[in-house]
Amino acid sequence: MTQEELSKVTGLAQSTLSKAENGLRPLPTADLPTVADALQVTPQLLCWDDDVYGFGSASFFHRKQQSLSQRTLRKIQARINLLRMRIHRLLSDIDVETILTIPRIDIDDVGGAYEVARKVRAAWRMPMGPVTNLVNLIESAGGVVARRDFETHRINAISIWHPGSGPLFVLHSQLSPERQRFVLAHELGHMIMHEGEPPRDTAEAEADQFAEELLMPAAEIVADLADIDVRKAAALKPYWRVPMQSLILRAEHLGVISQSRCRSLHAYMNKAGYLTVEPNPIDREEPQVIAELVRVHLNEHTYSVPELADVVGLPNNRFPAEFPMPEAQRLRLVR
Ligand SMILES: [Zn+2]
Repeated sequence: MTQEELSKVTGLAQSTLSKAENGLRPLPTADLPTVADALQVTPQLLCWDDDVYGFGSASFFHRKQQSLSQRTLRKIQARINLLRMRIHRLLSDIDVETILTIPRIDIDDVGGAYEVARKVRAAWRMPMGPVTNLVNLIESAGGVVARRDFETHRINAISIWHPGSGPLFVLHSQLSPERQRFVLAHELGHMIMHEGEPPRDTAEAEADQFAEELLMPAAEIVADLADIDVRKAAALKPYWRVPMQSLILRAEHLGVISQSRCRSLHAYMNKAGYLTVEPNPIDREEPQVIAELVRVHLNEHTYSVPELADVVGLPNNRFPAEFPMPEAQRLRLVR
């Protein structure tokens, strides 16, 4: 919401809101509930003093899209910051045991993004072949994965990693299940290779290379890719669980097909409408950690929904829209 919009909804002067937002003059306590109401948060949330991070800081990774408006960007940024603060609070009284850790690897030390992916596969003792469930893997290494609607197709995912907690990966909820896997692998690459480092022009290409090698290891996939065409890509997809488009590109990058062959397959995919919706959809990998945090609070720590909503600064009725409710809790609400 712009200050002007908020001013209209709350009846407070824009100058009052502006000064409060810039930290020049605190919002009068009496006005807190009005503003909180308009923003669909609790008054307490407005008093949280967590750091807020902006895009462009090294903490945020997203694929730059030139035509994305500043306003949309700021809105997404705000939602991600809020989600991060909320997850932090949900995690504060629960120990999540992880069996793996997400490493930091210096890409220049190991000689390239493909090699970084091989190191991660080795460190995580991943079996040969396709990655069964990337979301589970990342969450068992201390990452948190969430799906949110960004209301624009210009951003696929955002990841952020702050000291003291695991990285947070927010995926656009409108990604297809197979695309979601590639995008998540790409983001994981950023966290492992680029997080907290000075920006580099090659970062996007490196994250793609990392994703390719993690999901489609060269040594194991190269034979499968021989003579690849669109029909074969569709047949390979349920096994490798990646977009047909990624399989075709992988074949080109491994020198199995020429660049011009890749382009003509791409044109065929486009004509068939497969660049928008691919055939042979796969099952979606659903994040578990946030749902589990909610479940433990409600079912084991006996929080009521209003109490837990309060922890994350949401009005009661907004909680189920923002967080997944466990089965048992749904039943209890009906009773
Ligand atoms: Zn990226």
